[in-house]
Amino acid sequence: MKAFEFFDFSFIDIIDIALVALLLFLFYRLVKGTVAINIFIGIVIIYLIWKLTDALNMDVLSNILGNFISVGFFALIVVFQQEIRKFLLLIGSTNFARRRNLVKYFRFLDSTPDQVNLNINEVVKACFSLGQQKFGALLVIERNNDLEFVKNTGDTTNIQVNASILESIFYKNGPMHDGAVIIQNDSIQAARVVLPLSENRELPKRFGLRHRAALGVTEKTDALALVVSEQSGHISYVKNGEYQIIKDPEKLKSLLQEDLSD
Ligand code: ATP
Ligand code: MG
Repeated sequence: MKAFEFFDFSFIDIIDIALVALLLFLFYRLVKGTVAINIFIGIVIIYLIWKLTDALNMDVLSNILGNFISVGFFALIVVFQQEIRKFLLLIGSTNFARRRNLVKYFRFLDSTPDQVNLNINEVVKACFSLGQQKFGALLVIERNNDLEFVKNTGDTTNIQVNASILESIFYKNGPMHDGAVIIQNDSIQAARVVLPLSENRELPKRFGLRHRAALGVTEKTDALALVVSEQSGHISYVKNGEYQIIKDPEKLKSLLQEDLSD
């Protein structure tokens, strides 16, 4: 019987393991493509060597590594200060009350509509018109995660979305053209917003701060971002830290429709 003691799992153990896996995954997603991932890999390697020396009874080495790791725990907080901050922000800014999937199941408790009712045509029209005139623009469309923490960096507004307003905001040298616009449902909630920049080192050289900002906010939240490049007039659709260049207004429309309705 003893041989099978290892398999003596309880249900709680399974939940425990699943939660650890989820935490590791979230952490990995956060540090993916940044310098922190190298530090993370370094730590995992040292940890594995330590376990190995311990198993082989190499007392001196395992003692040294063991001490290093126990002190290293505090060093980690310092090294990963930024990431820990972002991680807590990510967890804290998930607005469970507005999670559309939950709302779907508990619709009788909540009368919030289950999709973002944004006038997609107006957004598409504005982007292509800005692109044609080579005006840079950055639009962030909120989904489940609360974007309050970025809205505070800009000027809050409450203007119904329409193409001419979006165009006039990003009009070159206009007072509001700098930074990003945050759209929640069908309302422009903030302009001149400063977004967190992506630290991804594998981006093409032509990507400047505007594109990095769009990638940054979509890495950290589930928002969608649209970038109109001042240099090329191209429109990028950014989601989950990944971008695609959109040439066709219909394509942009269908992507938005799809991503704003699930
Ligand atoms: P483009 O193709 O339009 O030139 P780009 O990716 O090369 O885009 P930059 O040329 O660096 O980007 O664009 C600078 C503009 O990006 C700034 O004028 C500002 O409006 C915007 N921007 C820069 N940093 C941020 C930020 N952190 N959050 C929001 N907007 C930003
Ligand atoms: Mg540029």
